[in-house]
Amino acid sequence: MDPDNRADRIDLDSLHALLPDNMVVTDPDVLAGYRQDRAFDPDAGTALALIRPLTTDQVATVVRWAHEHRVPIVPRGAGTGLSGGATAQDGALLLSTEKMREITVDTVTRTAVVQPGLLNAEVKRAVAEQGLWYPPDPSSFEICSIGGNAATNAGGLCCVKYGVTTDYVLGMQVVLADGTAVRLGGPRLKDAAGLSLTKLFVGSEGTLGIITELTLRLLPAQPPQSTVVATFATLTAATDAILAITGQLRPSMLEFMDSVAINAVEDELRMGLDREAAGLLVARSDAPGQFAGHEADIMLAACEKAGATEAFRTDDPDEGEAFCAARRFAIPAVERKGPLLLEDVGVPLPRLGDLINGIAAIARQREVLISVIAHAGDGNTHPLIVHDPNDPAESERAHLAFGGVMDLAIALGGTITGEHGVGRLKKAWLPDQVGPDVMALTRRIKDALDPHGILNPGAVL
Ligand SMILES: Cc1cc2nc3c(=O)[nH]c(=O)nc-3n(C[C@H](O)[C@H](O)[C@H](O)COP(=O)(O)OP(=O)(O)OC[C@H]3O[C@@H](n4cnc5c(N)ncnc54)[C@H](O)[C@@H]3O)c2cc1C
Repeated sequence: MDPDNRADRIDLDSLHALLPDNMVVTDPDVLAGYRQDRAFDPDAGTALALIRPLTTDQVATVVRWAHEHRVPIVPRGAGTGLSGGATAQDGALLLSTEKMREITVDTVTRTAVVQPGLLNAEVKRAVAEQGLWYPPDPSSFEICSIGGNAATNAGGLCCVKYGVTTDYVLGMQVVLADGTAVRLGGPRLKDAAGLSLTKLFVGSEGTLGIITELTLRLLPAQPPQSTVVATFATLTAATDAILAITGQLRPSMLEFMDSVAINAVEDELRMGLDREAAGLLVARSDAPGQFAGHEADIMLAACEKAGATEAFRTDDPDEGEAFCAARRFAIPAVERKGPLLLEDVGVPLPRLGDLINGIAAIARQREVLISVIAHAGDGNTHPLIVHDPNDPAESERAHLAFGGVMDLAIALGGTITGEHGVGRLKKAWLPDQVGPDVMALTRRIKDALDPHGILNPGAVL
């Protein structure tokens, strides 16, 4: 079936009739603002309409209609994705969850029931008011939706100690491709009944169902953190320090920026970062009481032993947060040099040095600028390939580098994506990572749940 071809002949009046006035938007100027996500895929299509429902019932109504008319749907949270998963497709409905913004916090079960359109930061703030903490913290936490986080299994800075989004999703309501809304899991910390279907939908990138509600696990508020900042003259010294730290303890954060990122951030923030350094680490401990300082001292010693040119510890929360904010700002800062092809490759920790040095070799070979930042404690790097899309030769070299970095990660036993998802931009490399049997299994699951292929066609598979 080719849903796009049918979409041309679709009469949207019947959909208008099923939904509140003005919920189906066809204004081209409005649609244009929803064409792309932050991957800025130049091949983005033109959607048939934008729908911004408020309730699960309305989502189910839209999906039932789409199922009946075989019209594809691209689910969308806040559009901050970096792999083209929310890119508009010709003739598709864009279903944005941005107006689904309810939250209820239960302090007894330490859970929150949230609609998908709330931003991650809004969830964090709402639960913090009750003395609780929702850990997953993508650098984009102020601008990305919690539903998008679940759909991509988002990671972040504290995930090295606290795990990624899937570790906090206890349950969900999800609208399937035929418009049926099912509830999976719930506010139970242990639940071994049936298949782990909740986990199947986390990270499914809108290809299996539309998440309309999440039940999230919460933790008590995070203890104060001790922060270590260290700079290194060589990338090898920095990766040695990372391995020395992770070999001894589980930091609550272990982040890396290379010299390009350091300078790009310093250009914008003027906070006195060492422009000569080849790499900078920000490491934190939130161990209880005096143990945070103790762990920070262990990390400080590891950095010094690995040859840090400068290393210090601070227990001042504002100073510590300033370095974390600098790291979070690295992508927008490097982006000011030019459009980015943004990678998300990860490797087993002992191969991190090989990956970072290999990426530098690819940059030299392809004559492109690649900046590397990383959730280093997870072995998850974000090589940022700067290129000018208006320069065909440079653009071609950048795309060759983009593929080369993923080939390298696979060769090192790693992954093409640690947290951003496959989307549309990385799907050509998925078979190389997982192999034909896993691709066939994935296809069988997709076909079983979405036999007409209407949910986010062209993403992942
Ligand atoms: C500066 C910057 C820094 C970033 N840092 C990080 C980081 O540290 N860690 C990280 O993991 N990511 C990071 N990201 C990427 C991005 O923010 C995450 O992937 C985020 O989870 C996407 O959320 P979103 O609401 O923007 O989703 P969108 O971009 O709108 O959608 C992402 C995918 O999820 C699907 N989807 C969205 N909502 C639903 C739903 N309710 N049901 C079903 N499918 C849905 C879409 O179809 C799409 O495939 C960063 C992005 C930027 C711009």
